Amino acid sequence: MAGFDPYSTLGVGRDATPEEIKKAYRNLARKYHPDHNPNDPSAEEKFKDVKKAYDILSEPSRRQQFDNYGFTGDEQPGAGGFGGFGAEGFGFNFEDIFDTMFGDGFGRSGAQSRSRRGADVSINLSLTFEEAIFGTEKEVAARVLAACEECQGTGAKNGTERSQCSQCKGSGRIQTVQNTILGRIVQPRVCPKCNGTGTVILQPCPNCRGQGRVEATTRKKINIPAGVDTGTRLRVSGAGHAGSNGAPAGDLYILINAGKHEYFERKGQHIYLTVPIGLAQAAMGVELDVPTLKGKKRLKVPAGTASGTVFRFHGQGVPNLNRGGYGDQVVTVEIEVPKRLSPEQRDALRNYAKASGETVENIDNSLVNRLKKVFGRG
Ligand SMILES: [Zn+2]
Ligand SMILES: [Zn+2]
Repeated sequence: MAGFDPYSTLGVGRDATPEEIKKAYRNLARKYHPDHNPNDPSAEEKFKDVKKAYDILSEPSRRQQFDNYGFTGDEQPGAGGFGGFGAEGFGFNFEDIFDTMFGDGFGRSGAQSRSRRGADVSINLSLTFEEAIFGTEKEVAARVLAACEECQGTGAKNGTERSQCSQCKGSGRIQTVQNTILGRIVQPRVCPKCNGTGTVILQPCPNCRGQGRVEATTRKKINIPAGVDTGTRLRVSGAGHAGSNGAPAGDLYILINAGKHEYFERKGQHIYLTVPIGLAQAAMGVELDVPTLKGKKRLKVPAGTASGTVFRFHGQGVPNLNRGGYGDQVVTVEIEVPKRLSPEQRDALRNYAKASGETVENIDNSLVNRLKKVFGRG
C-alpha cells in the first residue's frame, strides 16, 4: 500500500471541495461496505481504503499534512524520512495519527476502544540567560489530543453506550470461508467492524466524531528550576496526549533553550567574564568591583599580574540542577595597552623605560642578548 493516495482512492481531484469529498466517500463506502459484500474479501479492503482516504481528506489539518508531506499512514512508527512533521514540538505524535486514521467503520472507531496510553508531546521553551540560571515560573502551551469532555473520552454520544457488534456478535472474531481446490478453508479473523473489541459505538459523540479525543491547546504553569540550560529536558507527567479508553495520558517534555548574556559567558555551571585592566594597574596592583550573577564582588589584582591571569570566585556560578551547590565565576584579566598616548602619558612611559633600561622608539639590539639569558645560553 505504499504511496497511498486518498484523492485517487476517492476518485476526486486535488482541488475537490469538502462537499465533493463527502459525496464521493458516501457513494464508495456504501458500495464497498462489508455488510453489503459478505462474500467478497476485497470489498472490505477497498472499504477500509475509502474510509482511510476520507479520514485524511475530511480533516483540514490532515489534508494539509498530506498535501505538504505526502504522508499516508503507511510508514512504520518511528521510521525515518518523516522530517518536518510536528516541527516546533507541536503537532501530533505519529502513533496518534496512526491511531485516529485507522479507526474503523463510519466514525465508530474500533481503534479507540483499545486501551492505550497517550503519546508523549514535546515543546520548546526559550528562556533568558537569567531565567535559566535563577529559575522562573512560565506558562506553556501545547497542542494535544485531550479526552473529549462531552463523552468523557468514550466516543459514544452522551448518555449512550457501546453496543454489541452485530457482525461478530460480540466475540471480536469472524470466520472467513474460502472455497479452494483443496476444499473449504475456514479462517478466524479479527472482526473488522469492531476491531476485535466486540462492541461498537452506534451513536458517535458529535464533538469528537466518536474518537473520544479532540485537539486542544493546554496551558500549564511550570516551575522552571534554577540551573537549567540549553538542552535541559523537563518532564511534566501526564500532560501529553490523552490515553484512549481510560488509559493514562502521555507526558509533556519541555526542551529548554537558554539565552545569551552581554558580558557573561556560561559553560555548564561556571560563569566566565573577561575584565580589562590598565598597564599600571597590572604592574602595581589594584582592587576592582567585578560584576557577578549576584551583584558586585571585590577582586584583588596583585602587583605584577600578567595579562590572561585567571581568578576564581568559588560558588558564585550557576546552581547545579541535580547535585546541589554552585559553580564558580571565572574572571580573566586582560591588560589593555593604550593605542594612543597623551603627551603626559608618553613622558611618563619614557621615564619608566629609562628607569628600567628599555629602549623605546628606536631599534633595541639588546633583545637577542636578553633572549639568550632566557634560554640559558648567555
Ligand atoms: Zn466525544
Ligand atoms: Zn465485531
